[in-house]
Amino acid sequence: MARPSVLITRRWPDAVEQQLAQTYDVAFNRADRPLTSGEFREAIQRYDAVLPTVTDKIGPEALDVKKPQTKILANYGVGYTHIDVERAKTHGIAITNTPDVLSECTADLAMTLMLMVARRAGDGERELRAGNWSGWRPTHLVGTKVSGKTLGIIGFGRIGQEMAKRAHFGFGMKIVVQNRSAVKPEILARYGAVQVPTIEDLLPQSDFVSLHCPGGAENAKMINSRRLDLMKEDAFLINTARGEVVDEAALAQALMFDTIGGAALDVFEREPQVNPMLAQCDNLVMLPHLGSATREARQAMGFRVLDNLNDFFEGKAPRDRVA
Ligand code: NAP
Repeated sequence: MARPSVLITRRWPDAVEQQLAQTYDVAFNRADRPLTSGEFREAIQRYDAVLPTVTDKIGPEALDVKKPQTKILANYGVGYTHIDVERAKTHGIAITNTPDVLSECTADLAMTLMLMVARRAGDGERELRAGNWSGWRPTHLVGTKVSGKTLGIIGFGRIGQEMAKRAHFGFGMKIVVQNRSAVKPEILARYGAVQVPTIEDLLPQSDFVSLHCPGGAENAKMINSRRLDLMKEDAFLINTARGEVVDEAALAQALMFDTIGGAALDVFEREPQVNPMLAQCDNLVMLPHLGSATREARQAMGFRVLDNLNDFFEGKAPRDRVA
């Protein structure tokens, strides 16, 4: 029997690419350039499986085909709001993702951002590299203490809980949670966390607010100017979720007028472009979407895709099927 044909849309860790090629008839994207909608449309008519990732917009245009050959979109990453799920479903295309294996590393990065912005690490590094450091002094780059403060977490799933674990046990932080559905009491108890009903309840009591919900149309501009106004004037916003969850123009306004203490972003509304207004804000730390960027997580994500693919083509239910 012919081996299923598979398209990997970007470069993946070598070990995973090699392993995939042993089982499947794999087409690689050696140039590592994001595909266009037109190229996706072609791919969906040609390959049995397409393995996309967050930089691939698989919207209505890409899925506008009469007879798709693709039976599964096995996504590399946990978030899959870049895929038009409803449209894919009408074609009977299965969708899988890669949860769990990146949760710790993404929470580590959210902690990195929280500490960086609170302790002015970006300011300090810029000053030092520019040769402008004049030495230790009591008033130099004074930041905000993190330990013992209150962390508000919006979206208390896998990554939100890893964040709570680090903040509560490592930094003695109080944890306040807002989540779409009720979180089980035993999970809240694990981190000494309290769930509040609305984002409006969470914001005024948090010294740090960290976003861990999915993106997509439902959560677009969840953090808008009205909600930024509800934050304490010395509080910090951390976004490792998705760029669209924060209204960037409103955030830039809040940062410029110092109505909040600062912000730290790993994700942006129009990646890889960064809103020029944000780039002017000194009380902002920015990283280029590095949440899961460790050797360990990136390799595990690839092998998780492989597991999903193997299950699917062996006629079993892939464990990470989301649609
Ligand atoms: P998850 O386990 O599904 O957790 C998401 C949580 O958000 C769920 O508990 C969900 O509530 C909650 N939620 C959804 N909509 C909400 C809303 N409007 N208000 C409040 N809570 C809401 O997902 P995860 O594995 O933790 O991943 C979370 C997100 O992180 C991903 O979707 C992805 O976009 C992002 N991410 C980013 C990076 C990066 O590189 N920066 C890396 C990995 C993931 P329910 O309990 O009701 O479902």
